[in-house]
Amino acid sequence: MKTADSALIRIFNVSKHYGSKPALTQITLEIFKNEFVFFTGPSGAGKSTLLKLLYLGESITEGQVLIDGMNLARISKSRAHILRRKLGIIFQDYKLIPGKTVFQNIALVLEARGLAPRFIQKKVHSVLRTVGMEDRSRAFPLGLSGGEQQKVAFARAVVGEPKIILADEPTGSLDADAAETIFDLLTTFHKRGATILFATHDTDLIHNTKHRIIHLKQGRLQV
Ligand code: ADP
Repeated sequence: MKTADSALIRIFNVSKHYGSKPALTQITLEIFKNEFVFFTGPSGAGKSTLLKLLYLGESITEGQVLIDGMNLARISKSRAHILRRKLGIIFQDYKLIPGKTVFQNIALVLEARGLAPRFIQKKVHSVLRTVGMEDRSRAFPLGLSGGEQQKVAFARAVVGEPKIILADEPTGSLDADAAETIFDLLTTFHKRGATILFATHDTDLIHNTKHRIIHLKQGRLQV
């Protein structure tokens, strides 16, 4: 049941300005545990900015954001990692490290947590199996197709078992088949209990969806 207590993300009266230019204006919104929410709207509407505020990629100009009870405005640098561990992020441009192999790109997340190499080995191979890339663990990102790179980026996003997956136009550079694969992976993790926030202007994906669609236009929520 959706009660106020089950809100995992609370966004209250949030505005974001870049200099004097508003990108988001007075956004109030709750996202519940295990919801799958689409953020849609034209380019420049503020979808990416909204996700950036959630992962501390930009500061909030005004208002309050709580994620799993943590007030983003009050998180010290030394505690930011606690929030980040709750989040897995996927970007349109994958953001893989070109000089590291597929395995190394994903392992980095767990190495940063000081986990044992044997555990990391097992976990990375397991997540590579989930995304269907187990035979490419020694490849470098630029030797892979866009769809394969996004599967690796997806594996990196979920290897730490985040509660929340933030997906910023993850299918924006992919052909229809590769986009469907990424969407199916998001659906799998949603079924396993993750909360998904998916920013897209791909109307094919949201056509006929049963998930909540939040529409943004010029930095405001459209109702
Ligand atoms: P969307 O993801 O919906 O395309 P964005 O969040 O990227 O929208 O952008 C919202 C608005 O903020 C746009 O007007 C954009 O030009 C502006 N903007 C985004 N990032 C920056 C930035 N780093 N500096 C200045 N303006 C920005």
